[in-house]
Order: sequence, then C-alpha cells, then structure tokens
Amino acid sequence: MTLVKEPVRISPLAAAREQLAKCADILGIDAGLRERLAYPDRVIQTHSPVRMDDGRIRMFPGYRVQHNNALGPYKGGLRFHPQVDLDEVTALAMLMTWKCALVGLPFGGAKGGITVDPRKLSLRELESLTRRFTSDMVTVFDPKKDIPAPDMQTGPREMAWIMDTWSVNMGYAAPGVVTGKPIAIGGSLGRVEATGRGVVIVLLELLRFKGVPHKGARMAVQGFGNVGSTAALLAHQSGFKVVAASDQYGGFYNPDGLDIPGMVKFTQAHGSLQGYDGDADPMDNEALLVCDCDILIPAALENQITQENAERIKAAYIVEAANAPTTPAGEAILERKDVIIVPDILANAGGVVVSYFEWVQGLSELFWTEDEVNQRLREILERAFDSVANLVTTRDLSFRMGAYSLGVGRVTEALRLRGLYP
Ligand code: NAD
Repeated sequence: MTLVKEPVRISPLAAAREQLAKCADILGIDAGLRERLAYPDRVIQTHSPVRMDDGRIRMFPGYRVQHNNALGPYKGGLRFHPQVDLDEVTALAMLMTWKCALVGLPFGGAKGGITVDPRKLSLRELESLTRRFTSDMVTVFDPKKDIPAPDMQTGPREMAWIMDTWSVNMGYAAPGVVTGKPIAIGGSLGRVEATGRGVVIVLLELLRFKGVPHKGARMAVQGFGNVGSTAALLAHQSGFKVVAASDQYGGFYNPDGLDIPGMVKFTQAHGSLQGYDGDADPMDNEALLVCDCDILIPAALENQITQENAERIKAAYIVEAANAPTTPAGEAILERKDVIIVPDILANAGGVVVSYFEWVQGLSELFWTEDEVNQRLREILERAFDSVANLVTTRDLSFRMGAYSLGVGRVTEALRLRGLYP
C-alpha cells in the first residue's frame, strides 16, 4: 500500500495571530491588550435547514464572527464556500478589524459565511438558504451593529435577499443592513468594481514609490472572479501586460499578453474560464504562481503562496488582492528573496471603503456620482499607501508590518481610550 502524504491544512487563524504577535512586538503592546486583540468579541454559529428540490431537508453550518468594535459597528463580508469553517472566519474577521482601522473607517471587523458549494444548489435552494441564514442572524445583523457585505461567491443578488429578509423580519425597510446591494435598492455606484479598482490603485502607487514604470509590466492573476477579473481588466486598460490568469478550473498564459476584455466577456457569459479557447496556452494554478512575470496578484483563496512554492516565485512584487494568500512561512522565504508584498489589508481595502461610502450615502439619503465615488476611493487608498510607505522607509518595516502597525495601533489606542468595562 502506498502512503500518500496529506497536505497539512494551514490554520488561517494561527497565521493571523502570528502576524499580530509580530506587530505587537514592534508596537510594544502589553500582554493584556494582546490577549484582547487575539480573540473575537463574539462568535455566532448557526445551522440553517433548507428544503432541497428533491424534498429532503439539509442542514448548512453558518458563522458570524464579530472580532472587535472598538472603532465602530462590525463590518465584513459573507463567504459561501465548502471550505468555510470557524478558524477561517475568525481569521478573516480579525483582518477586517485591522483593514478598517488602517484606511480610517469608523468600523470594527467581522466576517461570516456558510459552509456550502453554492454552484451545487439550484437558484431556489440558494435563495432559501440565504434567507434562512439571514433570519437565523436577525438579531446579529443591524445597520448600527453589524453590517455584512459580499465576499467569495456572494454578490448584489445575495445582498438584496439579505436586505429583504431582514427588513421583512423587522417590519421596516432597512437598506443600511448590508452593503454591496444592487444600485436600484440603495447600492453605491462603483461598489462592484471597488476591490479590484483598489488593487490597481495600490499597485500603481507601489510602482511609483519604487520608480518602476508600469507600462508593459507583466502581471499574473490567480482567481478571475469579482476581484481578480476587475483588477486584470483595469490593469490591462492602464497599460500593464496581463500574461497569465486563472480560476478554480485552471488558467491561461500568453507571454505577449492575454485578451483580458475577451476573457471577462467569456466569464460573464459562462460563469467561469472553463472552456475558454482564446489565443493562449493552458496553465494550471500552481504553474501560474511561479510563472515568468513581474507582478503576481493572488485573487482567490488563502494559503496559496507557501513554503512549498515561494522559492520558485519569479515575480518581484506581490499585491494581495485575496485575503491571507501568503502563509507566514512562505512570506519568510519571499522576504529573503527581497520580493515586496503589499498585504491584503491595504491591497484589497477598496471594497470596504466603497461599502462605507454606500452606508454613508444610505444614511444621508444622498447619492454620489461614480466619479465622486472613485475619486474619494483613490484619495483614501493613496493616503493609506503613503502612510504605510512612510513607515516602510523610516522604520525599515515590511509593507505588511507597516500596514499592521497603523491598523493594529489605531485599534489598540481606541481600546486604551475606551478602557475595560466594568
Ligand atoms: P469570487 O467568488 O467572485 O471569485 C473567486 C475566484 O477565485 C473565482 O474565479 C474562482 O474560480 C477562483 N478560485 C477559487 N478557488 C481557486 C483555486 N483553488 N485556484 C484558483 N482560483 C480559484 O470572489 P471574490 O469576491 O473575487 O474574492 C476573491 C478574494 O478577494 C477572496 O480572498 C476575498 O476574501 C477577497 N476580497 C473580496 C472582496 C470583495 O469585495 N468581493 C473584498 C476584499 C477581499
């Protein structure tokens, strides 16, 4: 019998706590506050029953983890994915706390999700599950307490179902209970593209900071969903050469540059890149991560860049569009190779920034033009990048520790000022 070596599942929460501990050392945070930052305020776990199309009832585990609200209401996305578990959701909630603080939003951090492969459900089953989960979370979500948003495999359609279910349960219309809604029911212009747009804004800032021209810079993008496809398209339109792109079914490579507008059109029509037959060679996801390129944009799941492949990565710059795509062990190898990593909490903050704009527009009942949204997004991200780059230069920190120092530092200061009750 051949023994197959099982890949070790890297705990996203252990990785998030490792980064926090490193930052706490830099900031000299005392032991008590470290403990408070390392644990979530609250964990809510549900099991939502759904009557399937064949008449059977199936239970789906769901989670909402509220990490910290020192700076404002809990804010964070909802992920529908078979890999969702408490460890992953807690880690992602923690990242949301640092992210909101880093870009100066009056929000705390949360995350949620359902352990499900939504592609295996019918539309009716998916809607039933989303609505039942929302109903099970009716005392948890609240425009003043905890505001969900889209994440992997959720989007405006699911946000509309959540808003409707919550509103029906409460007896009044509450657009502010979620962000990432369709425009017609209080969504913000520019929200769908905001995360990918932010990735490109931050990437351009990085290259400006390093004095590297962006025209013709070769880019590889892992993940071609909301974030990856938008980042690839905007980068292509800005003059980058996107040489590789993939999704969960595999990827494509062309050293002269892919037809990104054509690939976006294909995914809009077919739901994924599966079956794409444009001018490109097939390339699997592992090969994409180590392909010949200048910039690598992981825009899929966590734990993609690890000690197994970091040594072989050729890109000089990694911009983390996904949350937690790089493991601490992978990062240590990349640091030795002088690869610059712009961390998730800065690189993909565009989504929560425009979610904040959506929330503000809803509360003030005054809606902005798309240009206003994009301009304000650019200002916030450029300011955040400058603050981080300043720490990188003056304190000799990595971009991750520069960003963490600002985000964790602001949350720590808020906790100190608010004190410990009772
Ligand atoms: P999405 O569901 O729209 O797209 C995910 C993409 O990743 C799909 O193309 C999918 O096929 C691909 N993928 C999944 N598993 C893969 C694998 N093993 N290898 C290669 N590709 C794979 O999700 P999204 O909203 O684009 O989110 C992507 C990442 O960005 C996630 O880490 C998410 O947490 C992060 N993020 C999203 C937002 C947002 O506003 N949507 C905001 C901040 C961060």
